[in-house]
Amino acid sequence: MHIHEYQAKGLFRQFNIQTPKATLITTVVQVNKACTELGGNIWVAKAQVHAGGRGKGGGVVLCHSIKDAEDACEKLLGSTLVTPQTDAKGLPVNQVLIEGGQNIERELYLGLLIDRQTQKITVLASTEGGMDIEKVARETPEKIIKFGVDPLGALNTNDCALIASQLNLENTLADQFVITLMGLYEIFITKDVSLIEINPLITTSDNQLLALDGKIDFDDNALYRHEDIAEMRDISQEDEKENEASKYQLNYISLNGTIGCMVNGAGLAMATMDLIEHHGGSPANFLDVGGGTTAERVAKAFELIQTEANVKGVLVNIFGGIVRCDLIAEGILQAIEKVGLNLPIVVRLEGTNAAQGLKLLDESTADIHTEADLTQAAIKIVSLSRGVA
Ligand code: GDP
Ligand code: MN
Repeated sequence: MHIHEYQAKGLFRQFNIQTPKATLITTVVQVNKACTELGGNIWVAKAQVHAGGRGKGGGVVLCHSIKDAEDACEKLLGSTLVTPQTDAKGLPVNQVLIEGGQNIERELYLGLLIDRQTQKITVLASTEGGMDIEKVARETPEKIIKFGVDPLGALNTNDCALIASQLNLENTLADQFVITLMGLYEIFITKDVSLIEINPLITTSDNQLLALDGKIDFDDNALYRHEDIAEMRDISQEDEKENEASKYQLNYISLNGTIGCMVNGAGLAMATMDLIEHHGGSPANFLDVGGGTTAERVAKAFELIQTEANVKGVLVNIFGGIVRCDLIAEGILQAIEKVGLNLPIVVRLEGTNAAQGLKLLDESTADIHTEADLTQAAIKIVSLSRGVA
C-alpha cells in the first residue's frame, strides 16, 4: 500500500525526522490562512498523489506570493496530474500540501528497502538527490552508497555516522543525519515497510537537515496488524477495477494489451500471458481467480474483463484441481446472461469435470469457442480478436 507525502511526513515527525512546516488544504479558501500561519514569503504548493515525478509533471509549484499559491491550488485541486511515474490517465488531485519554501543547499537521497539479492534490509544513500535516483544508479552507480543491515542485528548509530561521513555531512548535520536514518529504520521495522525514501533530503543555508519529500510503501500482507497505517489508505489513488476485484478475492492487474485473461492460479496466469504473447497477441490483464473459486466470482471476473475498453477478446484458461470445471462453465454462462457477450471468447477447460464443463458451454446459445488444448486456444483468441474493431 502507498501513502501520500503528507502522511509519510507525519510519520517522519513521530520518529524525530525533521520536515518543513506545512499545511494540508483541500479548498482554495484555506490557502490564505495556511500561508499566513506558515509565515515567510515563499511557499511551495505540492499536489498529493500516489506517484513521484510531480516536479516534472507540474505538481510542485514554487509560489512567491499568497496570490500565486491560491492560483496554483486553484489549478491543481480537482485536476488529474500526469507525471513520468503515472500512466497516461494520471491521478486525481484532491489535496495540496502547502509548505514554507526552503533555502536548499544540497539535495541528498536516502532510502531503505529489502535487497532481494543479499536478502538484507539495505540503506541506499547518495549525494545526487532530487533527481531520478534510478537514473543515477544506471549511469553513475559509484555515486550510490549501499549498506546492508546485518539480519541478526540492527542498524546502529555507528553505521549511520559512517554513511553520514560518506555523504560529506559534518558536525550538526551529521548528528541530524544519524537521527534521520535511525528514524527511517525504526519506521521500516515497526510498520512493516517494503520501501521508504526521502528524495530529496536537503541541507539548508541555516544548517538544517530536512526531509523535503517522503515516500513509503507498506507490505499489504502485514496491514492487518497496523490499523493506523491501514486507515491512511486513499482509494481515489488506486485502480478502480483492481479495488473492485479485491473485494471478490480476485487478483487483478490491468495491462495495456487487448486480450482479457481469466485464469486460476498465478503461475498458470503467467504462462497463459506468455503464450498469448508468443502467438502475437498481448494480454489486457493479469487475473487469477484463485483456487477454490465460485460461480459468482467467475461472473464478477468476467464482468471486470469485458468492461475494460481495450479488450478485444477473452481467453478463459482453467485447470480444475480443487475447482470443478462445470462450476466455472456455469459462472461464465451466468456472467454472459448478466453483462452480455459482445466479444469473441475462447474457453479452455482441463481437469476435474472438464468434459461436463465444455459440454455445458457447447450446448448453450452463447457464441463460445471451446478448446481442450491451451496452444490452440491462444492461437484462436489472437486470431479472433484481430477481427474486432
Ligand atoms: P517529486 O517530483 O514528486 O519527487 O516531488 P518533490 O517533493 O521531490 O519536489 C520536487 C523538487 O521540487 C525537489 O527536488 C526540489 O528541487 C523542489 N522543491 C520542493 N520543495 C521546495 C522548496 O521548498 N524550495 C525549493 N527551492 N525547491 C523545492
Ligand atoms: Mn521527490
